[in-house]
Amino acid sequence: MVEVNCFECNNEIPAVRLEAMPNTEYCINCADKHTEIVMGRMIYNHKTAGEVIIARGKENIRRLNREYARAR
Ligand SMILES: [Zn+2]
Repeated sequence: MVEVNCFECNNEIPAVRLEAMPNTEYCINCADKHTEIVMGRMIYNHKTAGEVIIARGKENIRRLNREYARAR
């Protein structure tokens, strides 16, 4: 069996986790820090048409929220 260690803290990644996510490079504790937050918002550009914008990562989500507040 192949042993995989976390890319960040070097702890061994449990086999159960590897089975569920074979490509993961992080243990559960570190995965949170490396998983990007994704958010979608409906932005109305015109009075009739709306568009769903998907933002990834904290900086983009902040930008999207700003955009959203302005469009309302
Ligand atoms: Zn780790």
